[in-house]
Amino acid sequence: MSPALPPRTAGIAVLLVILAAGFARARAGPGSVLPPQSRAAWRVAITIDDLPMTGGSCTAEAIDSLHDALLAALARHAIVATGFVIPGTSCQGPGPASASAVATRWIRAGHEIGNHAFTHPDLNTVPAAGYLADVARADRALAPVLEAAGQEERWFRPPQLHAGPDPGRKAALERWMVEHGYRMGVVTIDNQEWVFAAAYQRARTRSDSSAMTRVVDGYIDHLLECARYYRALSRQLFQREIPQVLLLHANRLNADHLERALAALRLTGASFIPLRAAVTDSAYALPDPYVGPRGLSWLQRWALDRGVTPGPEPREPAWVRRIGADSESVFR
Ligand SMILES: [Zn+2]
Repeated sequence: MSPALPPRTAGIAVLLVILAAGFARARAGPGSVLPPQSRAAWRVAITIDDLPMTGGSCTAEAIDSLHDALLAALARHAIVATGFVIPGTSCQGPGPASASAVATRWIRAGHEIGNHAFTHPDLNTVPAAGYLADVARADRALAPVLEAAGQEERWFRPPQLHAGPDPGRKAALERWMVEHGYRMGVVTIDNQEWVFAAAYQRARTRSDSSAMTRVVDGYIDHLLECARYYRALSRQLFQREIPQVLLLHANRLNADHLERALAALRLTGASFIPLRAAVTDSAYALPDPYVGPRGLSWLQRWALDRGVTPGPEPREPAWVRRIGADSESVFR
């Protein structure tokens, strides 16, 4: 409890509060409580990696219910998302829980799908020939699904956003994509959602509802912080807000809370557009100049090319990593 203020000091304090409130209203405009820039419209494409599922027990029921929930949340916000599929993942079931059945389900629900390699290899640790054989195998697995649905776009997203640790592997991947009519599934809003997902899964397995709540609240805060960070980087690089591309994963955290995450983004002025619409912006015609082992956002790649050193990107709080310890490696 704070000590009582003498009457004169209290009067000044009240006056300051009134002046501050008036100033905030003047800045925000009539009928608004937020500064204008907080509500500035911006656009974002939603992309979801590691279909059918990452983390948790990979039963057919779990995969089914995960996609019931993800597709329902996307539909409620009228979103056309892009799901990046790992056709050879061990986390799939028979029949409707198989990778190709889940991909078909997504396309029938109005979404697009992309190639996330057959077994999710890491280009940093695999020679180009083996890596591209894996990507080509995913291409063959997904081709019948794409052709049946008439989806013409061919998207590839490198696992962990590792797009070439050295000039040879980077050029080999780019050449393969050109030859096979692929477009890079770029990401601009990278984030640590997968660490929150690991923590959430662990808390859920223990039925620890207070830890689950804490993780979900932290996840939403982190997502909004990442959106602010990359929107600011866009303004710094382009003097405007380019359409963003958000990376999320097909995990239980999003099955249970994607609806809330999307609503939170919408409250900041976000509207949702398909990936294919986002990349029509001229920013996406810029080359990716980055050669190296890091899984960077494309905004960070373009920043490096311009000699801009972005500030450190938002990270998860240490307590999230502690809750998710031992399980996080399987979530990205
Ligand atoms: Zn992945």
